[in-house]
Amino acid sequence: MEVKIRNITKKFGSFVAVDKLNLNIQDGEFVALLGPSGCGKTTTLLMLAGIYKPDAGEIIFGDKVVNDILTKDRNIGMCFQNYALYPHMTVAQNIAFPLKLRKLPRDLIEKKVKEIANKFHVDVLLNRFPSEISGGQQQRVALARALVKEPKILLLDEPLSNLDSRLRISMRAEIKKLQKDLGITTVFVTHDQTEALSMCDKIAVMNKGVLQDFKTPEELYMFPENLFIAGFIGNPPMNFMEVIYVRENDKVLLKEKSFQIQLPDSVQQKYIKKQSGDKLILGIRPENIMLGNEGQNAVKGEIYVVEPLGRDKLVNVIIGSNRLKIIAPQNYKGNMGDKVFVHLDLDKIHLFDSVGGKSLRIAA
Ligand code: ATP
Repeated sequence: MEVKIRNITKKFGSFVAVDKLNLNIQDGEFVALLGPSGCGKTTTLLMLAGIYKPDAGEIIFGDKVVNDILTKDRNIGMCFQNYALYPHMTVAQNIAFPLKLRKLPRDLIEKKVKEIANKFHVDVLLNRFPSEISGGQQQRVALARALVKEPKILLLDEPLSNLDSRLRISMRAEIKKLQKDLGITTVFVTHDQTEALSMCDKIAVMNKGVLQDFKTPEELYMFPENLFIAGFIGNPPMNFMEVIYVRENDKVLLKEKSFQIQLPDSVQQKYIKKQSGDKLILGIRPENIMLGNEGQNAVKGEIYVVEPLGRDKLVNVIIGSNRLKIIAPQNYKGNMGDKVFVHLDLDKIHLFDSVGGKSLRIAA
């Protein structure tokens, strides 16, 4: 089912938790609401669930405005952080509960409970009570209960937060596969970018109640619209340096106290032209910087520290007043204090206005 959010606002007293939010979620799409703590993700989800009422704007499921429709009549499945299993019911009874409410025949209920319990690896726990299983297992039971009734819309709030890291990775894949198999429109709240990037078709990035952008994970990663998104998405995060934009005849240079880089024409054309002398923020991801030899556009620096990460190494290099993080191959031999030359992949740089932080990119 398609979900449209039109200009919704939610205030608590005079505090605006969600500010004129607009989102169009396609039928069957898996969408993440991503942002730091307190940015309004859960408030948005609770409005979709019908637990909070928006102060302004409309929520539309299919072609029906649901603002005044009660939670129980919205045909949604929910799994929230505090998963709230019924303590006096066994796992099987918990999962079966939504089907019992619908008065499905007993043998069909049993079949559906078994199937979903298998998918979520809780089939061996069916006769236990919630107090007799771990937090992670409770979370999986809550997910199974939300999905068993095959709702039109699934709302998930940090459903993997209580799982250990290995289980989290396997559940990421399970939920993604299940969501696609069932084709249920899903809205998923998380502050974990890896979860959002790896699982979702599209991500709505929020900050302080305001939508920053709504795009595919690849688009957000490749073409962040502003400094907030650029710094939030990516691990290790993007490096930023303040530079001065200088036009000399046909050349465009990015100057910093300790270096200057000439932008090739092909790169220049992707960005809005600025006044010579303007301050900009140059962004570059750790994987788009190479450590190499002296040469054109090479920037001189000194290794601050090397962090071996197993698969590769994270090399911290001091350049003037900046410290860049660079991903180097696992066999990189540099050491603390070594003088090095770094090369930025100029096709992969990002330029942002220093005031307001908007991206200056006009073409991919
Ligand atoms: P987290 O990742 O920490 O759960 P979030 O992005 O889900 O954060 P929300 O729970 O939506 O954030 O809260 C958004 C803002 O609204 C926060 O500043 C929060 O303190 C405030 N807020 C949320 N619920 C209430 C409430 N019932 N009364 C007053 N303020 C609230």
